[in-house]
Amino acid sequence: MTNQSIGLESTLYDYLLAVSLREHPVLTELRQATAQLAMGQMQIAPEQGQFMALLIQLMNGQRALEVGVFTGYSALAVALALPPTGQLIACDVSAEYTAIARQYWQKAGVADKIDLRLAPATETLQQLIDAGETATFDFAFIDADKSNYDTYYEQALQLVRVGGVIAIDNVLWYGRVADASVTDNRTKKIRALNQKLHQDDRVDLSLLPLGDGLTLARKR
Ligand code: CA
Repeated sequence: MTNQSIGLESTLYDYLLAVSLREHPVLTELRQATAQLAMGQMQIAPEQGQFMALLIQLMNGQRALEVGVFTGYSALAVALALPPTGQLIACDVSAEYTAIARQYWQKAGVADKIDLRLAPATETLQQLIDAGETATFDFAFIDADKSNYDTYYEQALQLVRVGGVIAIDNVLWYGRVADASVTDNRTKKIRALNQKLHQDDRVDLSLLPLGDGLTLARKR
């Protein structure tokens, strides 16, 4: 497993980073600390964090959602790109990993922009829908348990505004989606969502070979 963009050989990948990566020092510190953890490969690639930050800026994003925080790298990248009045609602179930996240959010001075909800994300997203917050978010990033990806997508589609973007991580799943001999449940869930999105006329679509595959779905 890797947390760099797939399919790039290392010399070219190093070049890409050398000529384009602009990483906030606290992001660098968090990325290096997370890489030491046993589950460190779950962290997104730095060029992906930078891309999502640029997307937030292009959209003048004010409100964002994240499903799957881990140690908080992507949330930090997004929060740094949000204006001072911006807000990110971040969903996760791990008190342990998000304790690391909070520490770095504080250090980077963006903790007040991030509202961490420690509960199953399907519940948090449903609470937001029930509270009348549909169509109020500019951006949603889905990067959590693959078995619930379709549910997260459907809930996020209700919560983002028309023109809002849902970004879905790991859609190329280290290449396993394209290997017919791989038939485990998570791979099948990702394949099914990819196929559904291809035909989903509620969104405009692009699948980028960035990180481990990042789908962008823009709500029509
Ligand atoms: Ca991921």
